[in-house]
Amino acid sequence: MRMILLGPPGAGKGTQAVRITDKLGILQLSTGDMLRAAVAAGTEIGLKAKDIMARGELVPDDVVVGIISDRIEQPDCARGFILDGFPRTVAQAEALDRVLKAKGIGLDVVIELTVDDGILIQRIETRARETGGARADDNAETLKKRLDVYHAQTAPLVDYYKTTGLLRSVDGMASIEEVAAAIDGVLAEF
Ligand code: ADP
Repeated sequence: MRMILLGPPGAGKGTQAVRITDKLGILQLSTGDMLRAAVAAGTEIGLKAKDIMARGELVPDDVVVGIISDRIEQPDCARGFILDGFPRTVAQAEALDRVLKAKGIGLDVVIELTVDDGILIQRIETRARETGGARADDNAETLKKRLDVYHAQTAPLVDYYKTTGLLRSVDGMASIEEVAAAIDGVLAEF
């Protein structure tokens, strides 16, 4: 199973991805987590990404495409994976299509979690309080920026995957359990 979880910051992609990985035994590949690890380790990519991430902007497409294409080459991805936070631009989606095509494989499904902006702001503010601002980009100002970036650069992916017939939308405003059940309903098709 090769799938994408699509949705704005704070939509609950990470929470659901962890549950799906447990259920299906496939890996969660989160570019946000990978980039934060690179920042923490002080690698060349981390140095490039650090300030961009703190501002809530997007790291250049070639950087994240490189990270993901290297990662999905690894043997532990052979059974499939959940992409969480990638792709985030149409150019990234096109690059992913090329990378997968070159390997003779394709995506099975793209699950979009839909959530309205007012609820997202509440969720992220709660997360920022609970984690004590552990993430440099979890504050009200950067959140606003990340939401703007989502609408401008990532939301067009909804149409991109609608056109390819891969898109399924799930109401991300329901409880974690209800969202999980709706995702399971989609996955039962496969
Ligand atoms: P969120 O909590 O908003 O889902 P992530 O953990 O996925 O955030 O990403 C945090 C930050 O990492 C983003 O705001 C962006 O700067 C960078 N990032 C993560 N994935 C990508 C990507 N696919 N393309 C560009 N930048 C990315």
